Amino acid sequence: MDPLAADPTDALSSVPAAGSRRGLGMPGRLRYFYGPMDCGKSTLALQIDHNQARQGRCGLLLVRHDRSGTPTISSRMGIARGAEEVHEDLDIRLLVRSHWSRGVRVDYLIVDEAQFLSPAQVDQLAELADDSQIDVYAFGLATDFRSHLFPGAARLFELADELCAIQVEVLCWCGLPGRFNSRIHNGSVVRAGDTVLVADTAPGDEVRYQVLCRKHYRTGDLGPVAEDQGQLRLA
Ligand SMILES: [Zn+2]
Repeated sequence: MDPLAADPTDALSSVPAAGSRRGLGMPGRLRYFYGPMDCGKSTLALQIDHNQARQGRCGLLLVRHDRSGTPTISSRMGIARGAEEVHEDLDIRLLVRSHWSRGVRVDYLIVDEAQFLSPAQVDQLAELADDSQIDVYAFGLATDFRSHLFPGAARLFELADELCAIQVEVLCWCGLPGRFNSRIHNGSVVRAGDTVLVADTAPGDEVRYQVLCRKHYRTGDLGPVAEDQGQLRLA
């Protein structure tokens, strides 16, 4: 090996000390927009899709764990768009390639409910950004009802180029910003158990989710009007 070529500070070196991005193409960016339930993530996802599409860019809308049966990104403002469901074992790189093979361009990805992605799927998103110049806009929660990071969210925090806390603050009943997605079982905050609700609830039990500030998540104080706050309700 030529010792001169190995020295990046040498004027004759093929690799400038600052690194050259010429000829490599600009990598895409991986962004994670996160916030508590009801903070308007899906509305923002659809707005970004609209803005990108208006510029003539082609996007692919993905969602994980859509409960409706027909995968959709829908906002509480009443807008909805069809999306493709990301199943547990799906390799997102292969999904994008299948679009390419049909002559469909993919300039960007919008991924809703991204906290439910597997860490491996988040790695695939990073690879698509780096190697295929695809911009990735991922949206989701940071923490689950136990106040622990979802594995997919944790990987996004590790890999994303940009982390964006969504600015539309969801307020706890006390008026402080709510950051904790609490699971309420028969009127009490539950802080342990399975992330996906399973059969530890009896028929007739009421399970719902409510966004609380840290103090009220810790103390389990649901405030004077715990009922009927327009929160997401899972019967
Ligand atoms: Zn509070």
